[in-house]
Amino acid sequence: MRRDPLSFLASDLDSLKAQGLYRHLRVLEGEQKPKASVDHRQVVNLSSNNYLGLTTHPALRERAIEAVRQLGVGSGSVRSIAGTMAIHLELERRLAEFKKTEAVVVFQSGFAANAGTVAAVLSKDDVVVSDELNHASIIDGARLSRATIKVFPHKDADAARRILQELPAGQRKLLITDGVFSMDGDLGAVPALCAIAEELGCIMMVDDAHASGVFGRNGRGTIDHFDVHGRVDVQVGTLSKAIGALGGYVAGSRTLIEFLHHRARPFLFSTSHPPAVAAACIAALDVLEREPEIIDRLWENTRFFKSGLRALGFNTGPSESPITPVIAGDGALAMKLSDRLFQEGVFAQGIAFPTVARDKARVRTIVTATHTRDELQFALDVFAKVGGELGILL
Ligand SMILES: *Cc1c(COP(=O)(O)O)cnc(C)c1O
Repeated sequence: MRRDPLSFLASDLDSLKAQGLYRHLRVLEGEQKPKASVDHRQVVNLSSNNYLGLTTHPALRERAIEAVRQLGVGSGSVRSIAGTMAIHLELERRLAEFKKTEAVVVFQSGFAANAGTVAAVLSKDDVVVSDELNHASIIDGARLSRATIKVFPHKDADAARRILQELPAGQRKLLITDGVFSMDGDLGAVPALCAIAEELGCIMMVDDAHASGVFGRNGRGTIDHFDVHGRVDVQVGTLSKAIGALGGYVAGSRTLIEFLHHRARPFLFSTSHPPAVAAACIAALDVLEREPEIIDRLWENTRFFKSGLRALGFNTGPSESPITPVIAGDGALAMKLSDRLFQEGVFAQGIAFPTVARDKARVRTIVTATHTRDELQFALDVFAKVGGELGILL
């Protein structure tokens, strides 16, 4: 019999198992809700990015169903051939209004938006100057572009400036940060980096995946939160987190967007959204406009839960957002913490190397607007019990 040429993959998996880092996929039986059925257990769900509870909002469901009835289930083509439907353009107009930019292009995911845009805008003689904790899709886009990648220490704008100053004046440079960092929940050095980009003539890009729907007026994101409108050339957002559906987008000048129509490979070579997804996203933008009190509830819950975790004595890092990590240190310990929490009825996913640094493994918690106080208090009680048991309270 032929030897399995993929057997080396099994040894990789065995080594994960030996380190206590092998994970089974947790399965959600019903809806993505604050109290959910996961692996046949009722748990308080602190693992989703469903910040505003929009995955199950009646208005989004209705608009998606209506779109299925009127427009079918698929778009049938890539955007640049026959897959641009009127509803895609309506969504892009609404997003441009929301982000206060000239134009927007929607991609299949935030990942595709980042990777496709960085790879299209830059080429091999250019430089990307990137925060060390930027999202994987930015890094992959930079690699695909074949530009030189220079990394600055997390949020260290002075270090970014030093790197940029040493580069030849004529070289094209892209300075890029996440708006909110997905593993620590802290904010990027957006205003300082905007000033440096202006001073040194770089392209400024912000990935606002975790900020849209969360920060700024009506959830417009960190550009609005920091009031740097007009100073960020390339804004990326996702429709997969607070917006509750799926997709990513780039907001910027009309020229940037037209360029991406012609050069961004996910736009050219991958089929566009089903109309129901676009319809749900439009309904979500209506909700942000008409019911901004949902965002207030998100922040009330965030303050309650974050201060609760800190009062218990957990190391919650520098978080400033609804993402609060509980840092355990060692990878196996973080996984153990996550498993014990789950047994006690709290779902908070463990995250270890290579997603975070080797000595900063954690469970990550994300509260949503739709968690009740009782659910959050229950989760805090479980954290207190399990944290004491495992000796990870400071
Ligand atoms: C989640 C995330 C993305 C990817 O967005 P998707 O729509 O899930 O593909 C990109 N950047 C950051 C910072 C993210 O957190």
